[in-house]
This record gives sequence, C-alpha cells and structure tokens, in this order.
Amino acid sequence: MSTPALKIYNTLTRTKEEFRPIDPAHVRMYVCGPTVYDYAHIGNARPLIVFDVLFRLLRHLYGAEHVAYVRNITDVDDKINARAFERGISIRELTDETNKVFQQDVKALGCLEPTVQPRATEHIAQMVAIIERLIASGHAYAADGHVLFDVPSMPNYGRLSRRSLDEMMAGARVDVAPYKRGDMDFVLWKPSKENEPGWDSPWGRGRPGWHIECSAMSWAHLGETFDIHGGGIDLVFPHHENEIAQSCCAFGRDVMANYWMHNGFLQVEGEKMSKSLGNFVTIHELLHTDKFGGRKWPGEVLRLAMLRTHYRQPIDWTVKALEEAELSLRKWGAEIGAVELDGEGFGSGFGSPDGSGYGGGFTGVDTVMDALADDLNTPLALTILHAVENKRELDVSLKLLGIDVQSYADWVQIEKSRSFDEGAIDMLIRARLAARASKNWAESDRIRDELAAAGIALKDNKDGTTTWEVKR
Ligand SMILES: [Zn+2]
Repeated sequence: MSTPALKIYNTLTRTKEEFRPIDPAHVRMYVCGPTVYDYAHIGNARPLIVFDVLFRLLRHLYGAEHVAYVRNITDVDDKINARAFERGISIRELTDETNKVFQQDVKALGCLEPTVQPRATEHIAQMVAIIERLIASGHAYAADGHVLFDVPSMPNYGRLSRRSLDEMMAGARVDVAPYKRGDMDFVLWKPSKENEPGWDSPWGRGRPGWHIECSAMSWAHLGETFDIHGGGIDLVFPHHENEIAQSCCAFGRDVMANYWMHNGFLQVEGEKMSKSLGNFVTIHELLHTDKFGGRKWPGEVLRLAMLRTHYRQPIDWTVKALEEAELSLRKWGAEIGAVELDGEGFGSGFGSPDGSGYGGGFTGVDTVMDALADDLNTPLALTILHAVENKRELDVSLKLLGIDVQSYADWVQIEKSRSFDEGAIDMLIRARLAARASKNWAESDRIRDELAAAGIALKDNKDGTTTWEVKR
C-alpha cells in the first residue's frame, strides 16, 4: 500500500493544505466532545463519526501508537446543573449516567475510543492556572466574582471566523452586564450560589465558563500548540474563536492548533432539527426505538449514511438515505460472505463471491486511501468501494472507514431471532411435526428453513420431540 499525502481543509486559511504534523511521532488532535446532561442527538453523531474516520486514517499513516486523539466530556455547565438540581442528584451522578449511554451509543456507531476523554471537572486546576496567566498578562480581569477575557486586548481576535467586531456583536448573544468592560468580553469564571456546584478559586467559589474548559483540557493532554482541532461548524464562533484567544494569549503563542476542521450542519428530512418541529431524534432513539422511519437502525447503517455526504457539506438525514445505506451494507455483506441475500434482487455485478482474484493486482485499497487522504472524501471512497470486486480488498477498505459488515450481519441475525417469540416457534415446531407425521417432507423442510433464516436451529431428539436454540 502506498501512503498518499494527507490534505485537509483548514478553516483558518480557508484552503485545502497538505497536513504536516509538528512531530510525526506524536500527531495530536483535539475534538470538542459532548455536554453530558441528556442523550446526544443525531447532529452530534456527525463529528463523532467524521473525526473517527480521520483518527483511523492518521493511525494508518503515522502508526497507531503515534497518534493522540483527545475528545473531552463537558460535565459542568448550566444545563447540567439545572437538570441535576431538578432530579435531586449530584452533577457527577447525572453526568456518569449520561456518559455511560453516550459511550455505548458511540461504540455502536463504530467509533474507536479516543486516546483520552478528559472530564472538565477534573481539570479545574489547569483552568485556574490559565486564567491566572491571562490576568497577569493583561488579557483578563476579575470583577464581581467573575473573571472576563478582555477581547480588545487581543488585536487579531476574530481571525478564525473572519468576522469584524461589529458582525460578532450582531452574531453573538451579547449579555450586557455591569461587571463587563466591553460588550464582547466573555466569561472565564463565574461565581456559584450556595446550592450550585462550585470550586474554590482566587476569585471566590465558582465554576468555569465553557470555552476555558477546552483550552485547559487540550493544554493538559496535547500541550500549548498541537496539530488538529475539530468540531461542528456551529462552534467556529464564538467557542473556537474564544479557545484560540485564551490559549494563544495565555501561552504567548501565535497558534493554538495548526489545522482547524469543521463538519457541516445536519438537517432532518429537509428541515432544521428542533424539538418544537417534532423531528428531534437522538442516536439512542435511532438505535433502540422505532421513532425514525418506524424501525430500529443498526449503528453501521447510521455510520454509512453519515459518510455518504462529504463532511463539509450540509447533510440531509432521511429515512431514504438510511435505507440506501442499508442496501449497500447488505450488498457488501453478501460479497464478503457475512450476509445471506434472500433474493430481493440487487441486480448483477456482485463480483466473485468465491473470492477469486485474491492477491491480484487490483489497487482498490490504494484508491480508497487516496480518496480519504484528499480531505476525507468519503463519498468518493464509497463510490470506489462499490466497484471493488476482490473480497479481501473490500474488507480492508471497509475497515479503513470503520464499517464493520460482520457486526451489521450479527445485528440482522439477532433482530430476526427477536421477531419470533417463543409461542410462535413452538407453533411452527408443532406444524413441522405434523407435516413429518404425514410424510410431507417439503413442508417440514420449509419450516426448518424459515426458522433457520431467523437464526433458530432445530434439533430432532430420539424421543420424537424437537428442541430449538438461537444460533450465534
Ligand atoms: Zn471546545
């Protein structure tokens, strides 16, 4: 396999650039993670999947042990505090519970575990240290139990989002507060009331603002300057702009991260997803309920559906797209030998199911790699995959994208077994015994095959009874 040069689109420069890590033996990426107070919605799944593909690609290019991927967990925030208070539990109990589900959901989407998943509440000391540096260097000031970042103190504030101060004022929900010197100044630390979570600090008992959390956690785990910072396009302003302001001013650096990558928006069936429109859907609901399209969807289908659109383009999340993704998975599953097709007709051109062509000169994996190395062109990679006929090439290429066809096939089998309750199985067994008694072997075989297709194996005992078990 050749190793193509990786090119990524950098929001900082608005151009596609060749990726050159600071240290190829220690490639470092930070991606803003979830605020764990409720189930993550499907829009949150997009950066999880996109940056997982990048993580896999970096591991492939530089060696797994040379890549560090940090995805944080925001476990203190006003929404978390309010929800925990409502339920009468601690924020740790709430965030542990939510994080547990989040980790299961992300695993179902086929994502590798990041190298580190730091929690904000375990990095308060680093946040305080950064804030102290900012105050000492004249970039922040304490007032009324708050500490604020002094935006006019940073001449190139707004460099990432390329907005003027006036535009930023219009775009941000600017809170006018008596303790602020400038309207754009943002909170680094705020006071906590007695019944709110809080930590002792030089400015009294309080809690961090959201932006400072990421500056502290990326610093703690990746250093003052690192390679890639990722997140959704909605985070460019103000969150990422403010992360840059904090980290660059605290450490006296020009850059926080060399490459800033942002995934595009997600809408559902052509409309913006919102709770009021009733089209709000969580990853958990897609995996475990029939809320979207009247059925459950396996994680592999969700992942593939997400990768059919280039990560920088807006994506329309539709039932049709999920169905199409599933069709591709079934086709590939049949080619690899993981899925049995039940004659629904995928047309011809399945390649060679016997695996002939092993070790041939086909360069399917290389072309898939080339597509991914070109700013994660997953739609092109998938188009190439549809033309790959060699079983091994197909398998290797799918794994590069983190698409586990065997795991999809297992899901199908388990769901089929579930669709038969014990009463129905017993009824079919009795019907089969009756067919055998009247020497209707065709009907007897048909029933056995029907159950086998649902993952249920029959065993005819010497005493004339039939027992069954679920095959795995
Ligand atoms: Zn962040």
